[in-house]
Amino acid sequence: MNKVLEDRIVELLSAEVSVKNRIEIEAQYPNRKLDTGAEVTRFCPSPTGFVHIGGIFTAMICQYVARQSGGVYILRIEDTDKKREVEGAKELIVQQLEKFDLSPNEGLQLDGSEAGDYGPYLQSERREIYLAYAIDLLRKGRAYPCFATPEELQNAVKDQQSKKMRPGYYGQWALWRDRSDDDIKSALDAGKPFVLRFRSEGDHEKRLSIDDVLKGHLELPENDLDVPLIKSDEWRLPTYHLAHVVDDYLMKATIIMRGEEWLPSTPLHFELADALNIPRHRYAHTPVISIIDKSGGGKRKLSKRKDPEADVAYWLKAAYPLKAVK
Ligand code: GLU
Repeated sequence: MNKVLEDRIVELLSAEVSVKNRIEIEAQYPNRKLDTGAEVTRFCPSPTGFVHIGGIFTAMICQYVARQSGGVYILRIEDTDKKREVEGAKELIVQQLEKFDLSPNEGLQLDGSEAGDYGPYLQSERREIYLAYAIDLLRKGRAYPCFATPEELQNAVKDQQSKKMRPGYYGQWALWRDRSDDDIKSALDAGKPFVLRFRSEGDHEKRLSIDDVLKGHLELPENDLDVPLIKSDEWRLPTYHLAHVVDDYLMKATIIMRGEEWLPSTPLHFELADALNIPRHRYAHTPVISIIDKSGGGKRKLSKRKDPEADVAYWLKAAYPLKAVK
C-alpha cells in the first residue's frame, strides 16, 4: 500500500488521540526490579456483567503465584467492548475481589484510584498505546484495512460451511487482503467503515510447539487467520488479541494465566508477538469450572446463563464462609 493511503488510515484510526511511536511508549515501561523467579501475574476480567466464580479462581491463582514468588499481581480491566459493557461492573469486580481477600497489587483499587507504575490499567485508556503498535504493523505491511460488510462476511461463512471448510478470514475468503490501492482509495473516499486486520503469514498445515506451564508440551496448527486488530466502531479500540499481546509485554507479565478457552488463539498470539518483534508470552491455561448437571447430563461447564452458582453474588448471598468457597 502506498504511503499516502497508509497516512490516511493512520489519521482515521487515531481520531482524538496523539500518534506516538513505540520507542516513546516503551521508555515509560522499564523492566521491573524484582528478584529472579518473581512472577508478574495478571487477572483481566471484562466488565460485561456479574463477576464469574471462575474469575475468583483465576484471581486466586494469580495472587498465590505472585505472592509465593515475591512478584506482583495485577488487575487489568478489559473494557474494549463498549457495547457490552455494564455500568458499575468494574467497581463490582474490585469490591468482590476485596471480599475474597484478592485485592490486586496494581490496578483499580476500592477508592477508585489506580495503584502501580505500569498503567493505565483500564484498556479504554490505553488507546494511543495500541495505536502505536497497530501503526507499526501497518507500516511493516503486517496489517491492512478491511472494508468487508457484515453481509459479505456472513456469505463467506456460508460458503465455507457449504464446502465443509474451516470458518474464518483466510485464503480466498480474506476479501481485502490483496486488494489494490485503487480499491482501498475508493472505499476510503466513500467513507466506508473499516477494521484493521493482521496479515498472517502462518500455514494451517504446519504445527507450532507450545510449552504450556500447566498443560505441558502441545503442538497446535499455526494461525492463518487475518483477525481484526482495531475495531471499526466509533471507539477505535483494539481487539483482545492485540491488547493482550501489547499490554502483557509493557506491564512485564511473566506468566499469562487465563481460561483454556483461549488455548486455540495461542498460535495467533505467538505470531503477533513475532510480527511485533517482542518476546512470546509464557502461558498457563487453566481449566474451566464444571458442574454436575442435576438433570443427569453428567459433568459440564458452569454456564453463565443457566447456573446461578456462576455468579459470585450467589455465594455471598448464601453466606457461605468465603474461605470455604475459595
Ligand atoms: N478479558 C479476557 C476474559 O475475560 C481475559 C483473558 C486473559 O486473561 O487474557 O476472558
